[in-house]
Amino acid sequence: MNRKEVRELVDRLLGYQRAYYVEGKPLVSDLEYDRLFDMLKRIEEENPSFVFPDSPTLRVGSDLTNDFPEVRHTIPVLSLDKAYSTSEVLAFFEKNIRKEESMLSFVAEEKIDGVSMVLYYENGILVRAVTRGNGEVGNDVTPNIRTIGSVPLSLPEPLTIAVRGEVFIRKEDFERINSTLEDDEKSANARNLAAGAIRRQKSGEAKLVPLDIFCYEGFWRDEKKTPEDHLHILAKLKELGFKTDPDIAYFASTKEKAEEALSSASLAGRCYAFSQMEEYIKYKTDGRKDLPYEIDGLVFKVNELDVRARLGYTEHHPRWAIAYKFESPEAVSKLLSITCQVGRTGRITPVAELNPVQLGGSTIKRATLHNQEYIDSLELAIGDTVSIVKRGDVIPQVEDVLEKNDLGNTTYEIPPRCPSCNTELGKEGAHIFCPNKKCPDQIVGNIAFFSSRTQMDIESLGPKTIRELYEKGMLESISDIYTADYASLLGQPGFGEKTVSQIISAVEESKKQPFKIVLSSLGISELGKKSAEMLISGGFDSFEKLENAKKEDLVKIPGIGEQMAGKIISAFSDEEFLSLLAKLTAVGLSTSVEDDSAESLKVDDSLSGTLWCVTGSFEHFNPRSKALDEIEKRGGRTGSSITGKTTHLLAGKGGGSKREQAEKLGVKVVGEDEFLAMIGMKKADDEGGQLSLF
Ligand code: NAD
Repeated sequence: MNRKEVRELVDRLLGYQRAYYVEGKPLVSDLEYDRLFDMLKRIEEENPSFVFPDSPTLRVGSDLTNDFPEVRHTIPVLSLDKAYSTSEVLAFFEKNIRKEESMLSFVAEEKIDGVSMVLYYENGILVRAVTRGNGEVGNDVTPNIRTIGSVPLSLPEPLTIAVRGEVFIRKEDFERINSTLEDDEKSANARNLAAGAIRRQKSGEAKLVPLDIFCYEGFWRDEKKTPEDHLHILAKLKELGFKTDPDIAYFASTKEKAEEALSSASLAGRCYAFSQMEEYIKYKTDGRKDLPYEIDGLVFKVNELDVRARLGYTEHHPRWAIAYKFESPEAVSKLLSITCQVGRTGRITPVAELNPVQLGGSTIKRATLHNQEYIDSLELAIGDTVSIVKRGDVIPQVEDVLEKNDLGNTTYEIPPRCPSCNTELGKEGAHIFCPNKKCPDQIVGNIAFFSSRTQMDIESLGPKTIRELYEKGMLESISDIYTADYASLLGQPGFGEKTVSQIISAVEESKKQPFKIVLSSLGISELGKKSAEMLISGGFDSFEKLENAKKEDLVKIPGIGEQMAGKIISAFSDEEFLSLLAKLTAVGLSTSVEDDSAESLKVDDSLSGTLWCVTGSFEHFNPRSKALDEIEKRGGRTGSSITGKTTHLLAGKGGGSKREQAEKLGVKVVGEDEFLAMIGMKKADDEGGQLSLF
């Protein structure tokens, strides 16, 4: 590589850092980022004259934004050096033992995949919570971090300390929140959702996302009070009320020595001799999928603090720690074609149609391509051989072109016209939109969202039926759901007596939905159930009040930001939207909280007093969060792990160690069919396998 090419690589990585840290929308997978980063590191080692002063290898990727005040850190807040194999971790141990000419010990912690945070306490009081920023200066996000229940606001001792931790969101909470968001608002992974919540301008909004924190380092201003080693720092943090990693390990020259040291610090954990590294890494790699939170690796740290002080820091990472990164699964396939999907907001998303291939336990036939910029950056053409990864281990994406096609195809371009309505497409930022509000895909998408299970819950009107009825000219707007002549379908293929009567009764039933659900089903961008609740408790509990609302009044409501208020005002001043409301009012939908039918207010608390945990996969609850919704709707509580307080385990197909644990603790294990019966749902007799209420 020549100097110009190295500069290009640096710029590419800096661009990826910005998208990842500041915008929260990574452009490439971590695997690809790490590959390029390591390539740059190697080139720089071989040619020191190619090291640019702003090289990402020399500094921490910055997550600074202008939205929050900047604060200077008083401790080093850096990144971590990386290892990708057992032997690299052992080489790190050996190098430091050799350098120190004495036996060392190492603490291994889970590398939580969240957002780095520093909590500053003065005389035992939390005074500031600051993001990592660029390692020297971070953003002060104290009000948002104060909303996290596991962050102590004061300590039992008047200490002046800085505590580093990782803010994260549990997998189940992520799944649940993401399933309520529109496609273009969904977060790619739990870390992005947590990062977004931390950056909310109103702490009321941050509070809606259940964040948590694990703390892993402590720095005492008064050195004399600093505990004797890292193990004792962790023990002290725990004693002070911080949440620490529940599954640490300790490595010493022999297992016995490790056990002794751990018990002297009164800490629970696993003990290993250095020679057992492979066993430990396998245990953590295998167990990773069963953890209630995401980890992207393991961190190995020198335990002795005097050794740490001697080893010191580079500009990028401490020399006394190394992160072992888990490999993301990757698959290779051929790009058969690209289809462009039109979302209900009009956004066009190109999707790769692939030769089916196995990846991380599932068959992948389609993968996201995000937008035209992404396709251009890969120079992707039909027929190319591509690598696919699961970004954040969830959404498959085409990662790289491994081999160009020999068909002469060049880089794919999204056609200039909407694939659904042939309208000329427009551009907004990196995305392409169909501006036609009468676009069939947008209309069908909006009706399907309205009637979906988590919204108005019109069981028998799924996306396929809605598309069919749209094409027959029966459903052209949300209000048509309530005026369509479903009886006229009788006898047409797929519309037997049973199906038609199911549609009619589900539509009728949906009229009982309370105002909150009606309001959040109308497709106003960002106005989900939580925001509907906030508007209602802020006094805007009817369409009439919302129509007369002023922006300055809406933003006074805790949790309603400028952007959301703007969207509400513009929706409620749109003629077409107001005419839709009038039609929905005429057919008897709830237009205010006062209007809510007694039935909709009737609370089903049949599961109150129960605490559920869920494992495995389900035929009728996909994603799994739907099962959690059903439990919570009926007054039950849910948790991500089995504890002494868990009363029921809902066990689907597969599932891991939770079933054994439940049996050991005498927790009632409930299968899917039994659960359906418990909550008053049963399988329909028809082939569609849809659920129906008794
Ligand atoms: P890192 O992965 O290098 O790890 C350092 C961070 O780990 C620390 O700052 C800390 O916040 C966190 N951490 C979690 N648990 C910890 C523990 N127990 N002890 C110590 N630290 C712990 O983080 P980074 O420097 O923010 O980012 C680099 C990584 O981020 C890359 O390797 C890449 O995977 C990813 N990245 C991806 C893109 C992309 O475009 N996909 C861009 C930039 C960075």
